[in-house]
Amino acid sequence: MSTSLANVGSRRCSKPSCSKRAVATLTYVYADSTAVLGPLATFAEPHCYDLCEDHAARMTAPRGWDVVRLAPDPEALKPSVDDIEALANAVREVGRVEPVDEMVEVNRRGHLRVLKDSGQNPQN
Ligand SMILES: [Zn+2]
Repeated sequence: MSTSLANVGSRRCSKPSCSKRAVATLTYVYADSTAVLGPLATFAEPHCYDLCEDHAARMTAPRGWDVVRLAPDPEALKPSVDDIEALANAVREVGRVEPVDEMVEVNRRGHLRVLKDSGQNPQN
């Protein structure tokens, strides 16, 4: 938990010569040859590049690629609110993890699922 929280609020533009605060995340969807520029992602992921406002505006996709620009998150442009917002998102993200169910799915027929206890009782 400390690792992911440490990243929140300290994300910088991924351009080597730029140290501005990141406000957008560029994601390359290789399967669709599409570059998606959207609000700053809560967590840094592979194939994602954080960009500052300037670089996000000037960003261009590789030849033959489509660019999808999502509406920027207004909150990301307010420095004082951004960090708190990002932290809140991180906490919500952690809280979203669902408890591990003791039951394991062994079969599926249509909408019906056959469940059995995960090794607690001997079979048959
Ligand atoms: Zn930049």
